[in-house]
Amino acid sequence: MFNALSRQPDDALLALIGLYKQDPRPGKVDLGVGVYRDEEGRTPVFRAVKAVERLLLDGQDSKAYLGLEGDAGYLERLWSLVGGAAETKVATAGVQTPGGSGALRLAADLVLRGGSKRVLVGQPTWPNHVGIFAAAGLEVVSYPFFDTASQTVLFDRMIAAFETAQPGDVALLHGSCHNPTGAPLSLDQWKELATVLEKRGVLPLVDLAYQGFGRGLDEDAEGLRHLIGVVPETLVAVSSSKSFGLYRERTGAIFAVAAAPAAADLAKSNLMALARTSYSMPPDHGAAVVRTILSDAALTADWAAELDVMRARIAGIRRKLAAGLAGAFPALAAVAAQEGMFSLLPLTEAEVLRLRADHAIYMPTSGRINIAGLKTAEVDDVVAKFAALR
Ligand code: PMP
Repeated sequence: MFNALSRQPDDALLALIGLYKQDPRPGKVDLGVGVYRDEEGRTPVFRAVKAVERLLLDGQDSKAYLGLEGDAGYLERLWSLVGGAAETKVATAGVQTPGGSGALRLAADLVLRGGSKRVLVGQPTWPNHVGIFAAAGLEVVSYPFFDTASQTVLFDRMIAAFETAQPGDVALLHGSCHNPTGAPLSLDQWKELATVLEKRGVLPLVDLAYQGFGRGLDEDAEGLRHLIGVVPETLVAVSSSKSFGLYRERTGAIFAVAAAPAAADLAKSNLMALARTSYSMPPDHGAAVVRTILSDAALTADWAAELDVMRARIAGIRRKLAAGLAGAFPALAAVAAQEGMFSLLPLTEAEVLRLRADHAIYMPTSGRINIAGLKTAEVDDVVAKFAALR
C-alpha cells in the first residue's frame, strides 16, 4: 500500500532552513525563518514562561486528560486579551487547539458542517491557509489584497470582491501583522469591511497569530473587536505560538463569537465533536503556562514588557531597512509602517536566488522576509547587497 503513494514536495520554507544550515559561509543571514529572533539571533523563551514552567514542574500533580474543551482558564483569559471590552457585548465559546493551525482546521471543519462551501482568502496569504482549507474540503477562492510592486493594499478591489460574495461564504482575514505582507488595514477600513461582510452575509474567520507584534496588544485587535460588534457571527483562530513564544508547545484556540449564547454554544459543541474525531484533546502545557501568566498581574506585566521590547526591535529594524532600501526600491519606504515580522519584497525569483548564491542571504523565492531575522548591525550590509541588484 505505501508503494502506491506518491512522494510529496518538501515544504519550501522547511527546505530553505535546511539549505541555510548547510551553508558554511560566515555572516550568512536567515530572513526565511518564521519565528522571532533577538539581536543575538536567538528565539528566546519569555522570562514569564520560564518562571511559570518552574512552578508547573513542582505543582502539577496529575497528567489526567483535560477534556475536549481544553483548559477553560486559558480560554477565558485568552479571550479577554483578544476581545478586550468588546467581549462583554457578544457571546463567545472557545475550544483550545493544537496551535493556530489546529484552530484554522477546526474552523474549516465547522463551516463545512454548517453548510459553507467556499472560503475567500487574500492574495497573497500564508500558504498554509490554502493547504488547510483545501484539505478540509473547502473550495478556496482568492480576493485581491496587496500589490507587491507598489506595496499597497488593494482595498477597493478587496471590497469589490466581497460585494459579490455569496451568503454563507467565509472570509479569511488576518487580525494584524499580515503574513506575508505586513500591510495593515486602518480602523476605517475594518469598519467598511465589517459593513460589507454583514450586508453580504459573509462569515469572517479572523486569524490572529501575532497579537502584540504590530502596534500593541489592544491596537492589534482593534479591527477584530469592531468587526465582532457588527457581524452576527465570527470565528477567531488564535495562536499563542508567537505572542507567548510557545511555538513547539502547540498552543492556540478557536473562538465562535455570536450575538446570543445559544448560537455560540452550538458552535462549541460541534467544535468539540470535530476535535474528538481528529486529535481528540489538545496538549496541556502551553495553555497552562499562558493561563498562569494571565492570572497573575506581575507575570502579565513582565510578559507584556518583554513583548514590548520585541515589538520595538522589529519596528527599529523596519525603519532602518526602509530608509536604506528606499533609494533602490522607492516603494519599500512602506516597510517602515508595515507591522509584525514579515514584509514582501518586490524581487524576482532570480534576484532571490542571486542573493542566496552570492551573499548567503536566505529568503523564500516569494520575496517574503522576516524582519526579525536581521540584527541591527547587519542592516547596512544587507541593504547594500539588495541595492546592488538594481
Ligand atoms: N496563521 C498565520 C498567519 C501564521 O503565520 C501562523 C504560523 N506561521 C499560524 C497561523 C499558525 O501558527 P501555529 O500553528 O504555529 O500556532
